[in-house]
Amino acid sequence: MIHTNPSTENSRNVKETDIKEIPKIISKSSLAQSKWEKVCIKDRVELIYSLTKILKREEETITRVITQDMGKPITQSRNEVKRTIRMLEYFCKKTPKLIKKEKHSWNEQTVYNPKGIVAVISPWNYPFETPLNSAIPALLCGNSVILKPSEYCPSTGRLIQKFFDRLNLPKNIVSTIFGGKKQGESLTKQKLDMISFTGSTHTGKKIVRQSSDNIPKILLELGGLDPAIVLKDVSVESVARKIVALNSMNSGQACCAIKRVYVESEIYGSFVENSIKESKKLKLGDPLSNVDMGPLSSQSQIKKIETMLQNAKKKGADILTGGKKLKRKGFYFPHTVLTKVDQDMLLMNEEPFGPILPIVKVKNWKEAVYLSNNTKYGLTASVWTKNRKLGKKICQMLGAGIVSVNTHGSGALASPWGGIKQSGTGLLSFKGVVRSFTEPKLVRLG
Ligand code: NAD
Repeated sequence: MIHTNPSTENSRNVKETDIKEIPKIISKSSLAQSKWEKVCIKDRVELIYSLTKILKREEETITRVITQDMGKPITQSRNEVKRTIRMLEYFCKKTPKLIKKEKHSWNEQTVYNPKGIVAVISPWNYPFETPLNSAIPALLCGNSVILKPSEYCPSTGRLIQKFFDRLNLPKNIVSTIFGGKKQGESLTKQKLDMISFTGSTHTGKKIVRQSSDNIPKILLELGGLDPAIVLKDVSVESVARKIVALNSMNSGQACCAIKRVYVESEIYGSFVENSIKESKKLKLGDPLSNVDMGPLSSQSQIKKIETMLQNAKKKGADILTGGKKLKRKGFYFPHTVLTKVDQDMLLMNEEPFGPILPIVKVKNWKEAVYLSNNTKYGLTASVWTKNRKLGKKICQMLGAGIVSVNTHGSGALASPWGGIKQSGTGLLSFKGVVRSFTEPKLVRLG
């Protein structure tokens, strides 16, 4: 398969896994798992924990590889690596307690056995953090792991496999299948015990169908169309600055980025003005330098954004900043603010996954709540107001997994994460994540 560096458009051929090899990878993974589950939890933790040393030593290499694979600004890639290390340390510390057998009475207890083979299928937008977020707890619980990194981030995927190969783990306990849809589809049709999938809602649905013959346990972390509601009492300048930043992180390619904004009519004009000012300030350029936004990850992302903007324009939207790919090498698309958008437009129904910020005028917060909830998605949402009591009340009414007042997105390291409706199979706290990689069994004495 071909991989293209999004900032230079230099393409190269990268090796993908032959479909015929996939059943053999599954057999080897199963054999490795039967050995690994016999290793006591203390030794498993020790072995997996040794990965932190490698990651700390290789932090700069990983950071650059992420950026070269998918165009994320280098400082954001570095943060991704640092977060991954913290997550790894956290899981190693907490897992033994979380999967210890639980005594209910003198004659009943629950034991937490491994599931078996866990396939981890991941997207390109956080190509290092996302697969490891599932792979680490899965391994600690005694499972084997088969990674299927995104075809847009093959080098990050190779690096992860290389690091695991350096640990003193049973052979084939972690394996990687390289490639795209074809390989993903073939993998999900194998006899797996569990699939942890992060990616689009469209692919999530396919995975459920493809794997239905074997009924593996499936965790789904899917897309979103995350709303922010801005009430008339806010300090407009500061909130517009924060919202543009939360919309443009990772060039708008974050599952929990703000993707639409509903503003009360009294401050609408001033909010739009301030958003335009902030949008124009964003520095777009070479992701290896100090910029706010790098290129989009691929030509197909550019196409998707262009299609959505054309559709919006045709239906009457005003494009106030950006709107067109830059005339230079690389998939550079500037931050784009739009107004006069409505529910009929593609970008208000499907996740755009790019640096575009549609702003909608609403009569009051009740209308904003109605419009926010009028979607198949339910990942994150936020309310911006000085009235925290009202903010909390509105949060209760929003149909999303993570709702916030005066901030947006994921919580602290150990906080729950996930979406509802077609954004995923529900909230999982980091504690919950660990146990979800086990097969709980009730053991009774008569
Ligand atoms: P995608 O669904 O196109 O691909 C994700 C992965 O699935 C890739 O590895 C891909 O090769 C594989 N795949 C594709 N078709 C498959 C099939 N038929 N069977 C099995 N595997 C298949 O998503 P993407 O474009 O890589 O990532 C962006 C999406 O991920 C966005 O929708 C974003 O919101 C979502 N995302 C969600 C979260 C979350 O936690 N909810 C986090 C990050 C990204």
